[in-house]
Amino acid sequence: MVTPLPNVRGDFAACSGCSLCLLVCPVWRRTRDLRYTPHGRAKALQNGVPAGELKDSIDSCTLCGACEPVCPENIGLVDMTLNLRAQLPPSIPLQQKAAPAINTTPDYHGKRVLLVSRALREHDAALQKAIKLLDCVIADDDGFDIALNIEAGATLTEARRAAFLDPLRHAKQIIVADGLLCRTLQRWQPRANIISLGIALSRHASVRQHLKHSDLYVIEARAYHANVEGLVRYYDDLRFDTGCAMNLDLQRIAIPATARNLRQRLGIDTPDDDAQTRWLLQGRKVTRIVVEDAGDMAAFKAVGDLPVVHLAELAHD
Ligand code: SF4
Ligand code: SF4
Repeated sequence: MVTPLPNVRGDFAACSGCSLCLLVCPVWRRTRDLRYTPHGRAKALQNGVPAGELKDSIDSCTLCGACEPVCPENIGLVDMTLNLRAQLPPSIPLQQKAAPAINTTPDYHGKRVLLVSRALREHDAALQKAIKLLDCVIADDDGFDIALNIEAGATLTEARRAAFLDPLRHAKQIIVADGLLCRTLQRWQPRANIISLGIALSRHASVRQHLKHSDLYVIEARAYHANVEGLVRYYDDLRFDTGCAMNLDLQRIAIPATARNLRQRLGIDTPDDDAQTRWLLQGRKVTRIVVEDAGDMAAFKAVGDLPVVHLAELAHD
C-alpha cells in the first residue's frame, strides 16, 4: 500500500499564525471562519486537537493550492490536508479500477498521451480539437479513480498505481487535464515529461494567436499552484503577449469557478459555483471567457451571457 503523497515541505508544527494564507483562500473568503483555513487547522493541531474533530474543516479545502506559495514557513499545506484526510474514514467508499490483463496493456512508446478528465469527455468538440492539435492519443486508463481516491485521502494499492503508470512509462509526453492528477504524476515520475493540458494548448501558436486583450483566461488552479515557481513567469509572458486578463489577482489567484470542496465533488453538498464565478467576474470588462478546464464552462455559462470557450476551441481548422 502507498500513502497518497509524501510530505516534502514543512508541516503544521511550523505555522507561525501569520494569517497570510487567508488572503488567497477561497474558503476563508466564503466563510470568514478561521477554523476553515490552513491557519486554523495548523493551530488546532499544534494544540493537540485530533484530526477527527477537524473533519468539516479538512473536507472544506478545495485543494486549489493557492495558500502554499504565500506561506512564509513553506508548509506543504495541500499535503497537510491530504494527510489529514488519510487519517479519517473516507467520506464515501471509493472504488479503484481493477488492473487490466497484461495482454491488453496499450503501447504508448514514443507517443504523446492525453489523460482526459470527466469534464473534458463531456465536451467532445474541445476534446477532438485538443487531440488533433496536440497530435496525441487518449489514454485507455484516465486515472480518474486515482485522482478521486487521492483527493479523498483513500489509500491506493500498489497494484492499481503500477497498472496505471506502467503503460505511460515510455510515452514521449503525458498531458493531463485534471490538475490534481497532474500534480501527483509529477511527484511520482519527476523525470517524465508531464504537463497540464492548459500549458500544452496555450503553448500552441494556433491557440495563442486567437487570445484577445478582451478575454478572461481562466487558469486551472491545482496544476498551476503545484508548480507556481515555474509557471508564474510562463503565464506572465502569455498575458504580456496576448493582453488577456487572467485569474491572477489577489484573492482570485487562479481560483477556478468550479473550485469545489470534497463533499461538493462527491455530491454530498451542493456546489456553490455561482458565488465563485461571480467573484471571478466582478469588476472585469471582458467579452469572452476562455477556460483551461472544461469543468469551468458550465459555471461561467450559468452566470451570464458572455461566450465561454475551451482553450482548444480557439484553434481554427
Ligand atoms: S488549498 Fe485552497 S482552499 Fe485549501 S486551504 Fe489552501 S487556499 Fe484554502
Ligand atoms: S501562511 Fe503558513 S505560517 Fe502563516 S498562518 Fe498560514 S499556514 Fe501558518
